[in-house]
Amino acid sequence: MIPVTRFAPSPTGRLHLGHAWSALLAHDFARRHGGSFLLRIEDIDPGRARASHVDSILEDLIWLGLEWDGEIVYQSERLDLYAEALERLKGGGLVYPCFCTRAEIAAEVAASAAAPHGDGPLYPGTCRTLGPADREHMAAERPHAWRLDVGAALASLGGSPLTWIDAAAGELPARPEAFGDVVLARKDAPASYHLAVTLDDAAQGISHVVRGVDLFACTHVHRLLQALLELPTPHYHHHPLIVDAEGRRLAKRHGAPTLADLRNAGADPAELAARLRSGRMPAGYSLADN
Ligand code: GLU
Repeated sequence: MIPVTRFAPSPTGRLHLGHAWSALLAHDFARRHGGSFLLRIEDIDPGRARASHVDSILEDLIWLGLEWDGEIVYQSERLDLYAEALERLKGGGLVYPCFCTRAEIAAEVAASAAAPHGDGPLYPGTCRTLGPADREHMAAERPHAWRLDVGAALASLGGSPLTWIDAAAGELPARPEAFGDVVLARKDAPASYHLAVTLDDAAQGISHVVRGVDLFACTHVHRLLQALLELPTPHYHHHPLIVDAEGRRLAKRHGAPTLADLRNAGADPAELAARLRSGRMPAGYSLADN
């Protein structure tokens, strides 16, 4: 199989070493096997995505010597595709409107003493049990997200086992139920990360998804969406994250230098790329264990 990989940054800030390493890994994997390396800008978060960051991302990748193939894909130009998929899931009764605020979800979770999960509390399913009349009435009047009914979704697949292949861990059973009823369309954005990334990886013919291990857990959800929307399942390679001397993930607020900072300080991009490629992180940075 000739691989097709991608780098899919969200233009919410400048790129740092972690992004550079991820992009290099995806790029090199494709090139090593005579494949293609695509660039996708994940710019559908209205509160955080900025056009100016897109320009700086392109500048940084070119500085690093990374060339992508074909046209850049912008998620903001693909909203119809996401809406169509959501309609299909609505037609199958696999999503439901959710009217809860973050505060309401947190309060319910606290009351039920459920353990928080991942980046936020597991959704307790409040709106899943609304009757059709309430749903219709409330949906007409109140802003709402759309959540995947994971139980109904799994049942609709008739219990056939879902698996995916991780380069390090091998074949894994998909466990989307561990994440609860994830959001597929937000109140303020027509598609969530999960829906858009799954559709785009398929539409772009991505054969190997190379991304940070922080997104490992999301793959369980993406695998379920692939099954529901009859999309192919790529292979996944989740690489470790680069951390600073205190073991923290790179972030502007922790003073992690951006690629622009390194460039302005006179860093040689070829040398930086060679270091990252050989796994020798710049002084003060290392790879996290997991
Ligand atoms: N846009 C995501 C990010 O910047 C990456 C998405 C992915 O690789 O699946 O974190």
